[in-house]
Amino acid sequence: MTGEPRPEPPLFGKVALIGMGLIGSSIARALRTLPLAGSVVAADRSEAVIARVRELVIADETTTDLAAAVRGADLVIACVPVGAMGAVAEAIGPHLKPGAIVSDVGSTKGSIVAQMAPHMPAGVHLIPAHPVAGTEHSGPDSGFPELFHGRWCILTPVPDTDPDAVERLAAFWQGLGSKTEVMAPDHHDLVLAITSHVPHLIAYNIVGTASDLETVTESEVIKFSAGGFRDFTRIAASDPTMWRDVFLHNKEAVLEVLGRFTEDLIALQRNIRWGQGDQLFDLFTRTRAIRRSIIDQRQDTADPDFGRNRK
Ligand code: NAP
Repeated sequence: MTGEPRPEPPLFGKVALIGMGLIGSSIARALRTLPLAGSVVAADRSEAVIARVRELVIADETTTDLAAAVRGADLVIACVPVGAMGAVAEAIGPHLKPGAIVSDVGSTKGSIVAQMAPHMPAGVHLIPAHPVAGTEHSGPDSGFPELFHGRWCILTPVPDTDPDAVERLAAFWQGLGSKTEVMAPDHHDLVLAITSHVPHLIAYNIVGTASDLETVTESEVIKFSAGGFRDFTRIAASDPTMWRDVFLHNKEAVLEVLGRFTEDLIALQRNIRWGQGDQLFDLFTRTRAIRRSIIDQRQDTADPDFGRNRK
């Protein structure tokens, strides 16, 4: 691998990343210059992805053999779609080193515990995690080392997890630039259902509705797309495999939030039908304040493109 030599001593010895798309390749890029890993092995099921990772020179070793990738690794992070986590855990389970930390970056957490825990041998620490950072792009070329800067990474250890192992994983994510928080897996799933999963579903739905509107042509939708619709199309361009898996694996929380959303939507429908402008004005004032506090807490920028033109 080229690039600056890593500072010594690293937090972990060998780090294995499985799945080298947006998230996996962003971690690999960041690890090139940080004192977090002695060596980095990049693994993916796809020969083409691994060939590209080799060209990008973002890992010390590359392989499509997941078992070989995790042998002797001190930290293993699965960066594959949520629906593939069980298969990855099954493939790597027998080859894990005692004392290794196994984690992931999946957007749901309860289902990760259910899929991965049965395959973990005694003495291995399974600590699921979710970096709340991303873009609508995927694949190894879409990653960038600053992706996690200033963003939250939520760790969801199950009861009785070794607190030292949780501390080390938190230190790893802090080293990547993230702020960390510990949460129960089910609570994570409810919080993310409202802050991420249902908003994505709404975006997929509104863009789908627009493209199905027979009296408005697709070229008109594109030509006259105002800011609101354009923002939805960005979200609705997110990876279909990833998001299919998110909805199938966070079913209960998504359906709970969607139920409340539907009730609130019907209330808005009534406000419009009965000309209840005060109710509309009050809601829009409340939501504007939420947008302001997100910017104040540096979770977005006030730039016209929200600073998202980078990739
Ligand atoms: P991505 O860019 O599509 O990359 C996923 C990679 O995993 C692909 O190269 C894929 O190969 C590979 N893969 C799939 N199944 C595999 C298997 N069984 N064994 C080995 N490799 C496999 O996806 P991503 O956006 O990085 O997302 C990865 C994870 O991060 C997901 O769980 C997602 O929920 C989570 N996450 C994503 C975001 C975001 O904004 N994108 C944010 C936070 C968390 P193929 O191309 O052959 O399928």
